[in-house]
Amino acid sequence: MRLLALLVLLASQALAFPRVGLHEGFTRFVFDLPAGSTYQMNTEGQTLALRFRGVKAEPLDESVNSEEVASYQVVVNGAVVEVFVRLKPGMRAQSSTLNEPQNRRLIVDIARGEAKAGTSPAPQPKPAPAKAAPRPAQPKFVVVIDPGHGGRDPGAVSPCTGVTEKLITLDVSQRARRYLEAQGVQVVLTRSGDTYPTLDERAQMADSKKNLFISVHVNSTVGCPGRAQGIETYYFGELLNPSLLEQVVRENGGGAVGQQLTRVARDAAQRAAGDILAQLNLRWSRELAYTVHNKLIQATGAVNRGVQQAPFYVIRNARIPAILVELGFANHASEGRRLADPAYRDTLARAMSQAVTRFLGVDTVAQR
Ligand SMILES: [Zn+2]
Repeated sequence: MRLLALLVLLASQALAFPRVGLHEGFTRFVFDLPAGSTYQMNTEGQTLALRFRGVKAEPLDESVNSEEVASYQVVVNGAVVEVFVRLKPGMRAQSSTLNEPQNRRLIVDIARGEAKAGTSPAPQPKPAPAKAAPRPAQPKFVVVIDPGHGGRDPGAVSPCTGVTEKLITLDVSQRARRYLEAQGVQVVLTRSGDTYPTLDERAQMADSKKNLFISVHVNSTVGCPGRAQGIETYYFGELLNPSLLEQVVRENGGGAVGQQLTRVARDAAQRAAGDILAQLNLRWSRELAYTVHNKLIQATGAVNRGVQQAPFYVIRNARIPAILVELGFANHASEGRRLADPAYRDTLARAMSQAVTRFLGVDTVAQR
């Protein structure tokens, strides 16, 4: 039985597209190229994108979590097979091809360094250096946390629970910053006091030098107390659920401004549908959304309202994984009380930071 299992494993590895190997100092992707197949390769930010024609593959979404690679996805679109590899910061791809008649392969090695994908057709032998080069410093992850609202904009205010959104979002964000910094992750807050950066100013902080962006919010409904409760997490996209429109307008600034920015965000969502890089970033955003959401639900036992897409203005143009979390309902009797409790906010912050370090691949087994 054991031999059979081994044979099945070997057979499945032999058929896998790509085959992935973890090695000391690099992660290797091997793509078998049947006769007549073609490929293109590009890197954009931290993503390596490959597009094949004439190969056979199964759709796949795999977490690798090696030193060099976070995850990869295989997308099959008719005759086209796309492979997206999410690199960790400071990593580069170097490719070479093996051109034996019965054994044509593309080999892509991901390692720390300056090599660029697609620039070298074959590895050139290098003279051995006189002495080992110093190892470059470990790249630092930089995370942007956006405490929603602030200053003249209090966000949701609930007289029956005493919860004011802008205070909760700032406190949870500051606590998450402390947890993340303890893990060696640098954190940029879009505000650190009771101020109101505009949504554009906040969004601009999510530039491509950062690794991810989380906008932190608290929800509310009509009534005091209201009946809705639970945590929900969003990544950017079209408004698929019309009942969310009121909430989206409110989080986009409310009133006439919120309606205007929601129109802009909905236009951006339509444009994103035809933009392959935007679509790619939405895949990573979705992965981030599920990682954070599941951890928050697991840590708090709160009602699970799911992960959804919606046209939130602040994450509309992000080129890094970007999400918006609603930590609970300010005007729900028991959830509002929990949000007002510093210990509960600490639980939320800790869960969020653990999800972020897991997503970035810097967590420890003990944390999981
Ligand atoms: Zn809000």
